[in-house]
Amino acid sequence: MSGKVITIVGSGASSVSFIDALLENLCVENNILSDLTIFLLDKRPQFGRGLAYADDTSTSLLNTRASFISPFSDKPGHFYNWLLQNKSIWEDDFPDLILSPDAFLPRSLFGNYLTHMLQSLSKKAVEIGCRVITVNDEAYRITFAHDGKIVISTRGNLSFPSDHVVLSCGNGGSLEYKNLEDTPGFFSSPYPIKHTTRVIPKEARVAIIGSRLSAIDMAIGLKASGHTGPIVFHSRTGSLPAVRGIQGRYKPEYLTPQRIK
Ligand SMILES: Cc1cc2nc3c(=O)[nH]c(=O)nc-3n(C[C@H](O)[C@H](O)[C@H](O)COP(=O)(O)OP(=O)(O)OC[C@H]3O[C@@H](n4cnc5c(N)ncnc54)[C@H](O)[C@@H]3O)c2cc1C
Repeated sequence: MSGKVITIVGSGASSVSFIDALLENLCVENNILSDLTIFLLDKRPQFGRGLAYADDTSTSLLNTRASFISPFSDKPGHFYNWLLQNKSIWEDDFPDLILSPDAFLPRSLFGNYLTHMLQSLSKKAVEIGCRVITVNDEAYRITFAHDGKIVISTRGNLSFPSDHVVLSCGNGGSLEYKNLEDTPGFFSSPYPIKHTTRVIPKEARVAIIGSRLSAIDMAIGLKASGHTGPIVFHSRTGSLPAVRGIQGRYKPEYLTPQRIK
């Protein structure tokens, strides 16, 4: 491969933001890197969504208002405007949705939007002579070759010699309660909610450890699927169940663009 290669491991919201910023820079810098190949690796089959915005039950909601959340720092309100302008894309999947700038919408809807953003970015890349190639595989090793390339190896026996590697892998799974992993009735994560609510018997007693976003997703998912047994939240801080933070913008003081450069 003659041009430059960037391999991105993980295809969630951060990667969508990164690819957007990268392509914008290439346009501004007069196509300096126009022969660029971006390999986008993800171990999950749904590109652009990541864990948070996976295709799951519509009872799991964003904790950020519709008009506020955006993967593009220079385009506030982009998600909400996209919803207004592209009803035909999402209306059939979310027929009862009432759009308002202040609504807390389903996370899977934001996932649909991210998938479309990735598709538009792939098209934009072609327009400026680059390519975004998605690969459904798990990266498991990084090595440094003698020619200066960084090589990503995957479980599927692929190898990606790259000029740059971007790790955008999100949060790892919880390492707590490893000893319970194979215990019937124990789940280290509630996701996908579609799955957990299907396999937990409707009348079962359910203990949910934690009382924040994923705990609330689980409880609402259970109730929406017709669960009748008792559900108890356990919180070591004693906090009441809560999800939504302050809807504010933060100005990074330490991690500034200058310092990163
Ligand atoms: C359940 C949940 C709900 C959330 N809700 C909100 C919300 O409502 N509002 C908000 O602003 N933020 C929310 N967040 C925060 C959210 O994590 C960020 O907004 C954002 O989605 C993080 O994006 P990311 O790309 O860094 O990570 P992720 O979205 O986690 O994406 C990482 C991707 O990397 C892939 N990956 C990991 N390791 C490998 C590997 N070795 N090889 C190949 N692929 C790999 C994973 O499969 C995944 O697709 C939520 C987070 C979670 C977990």
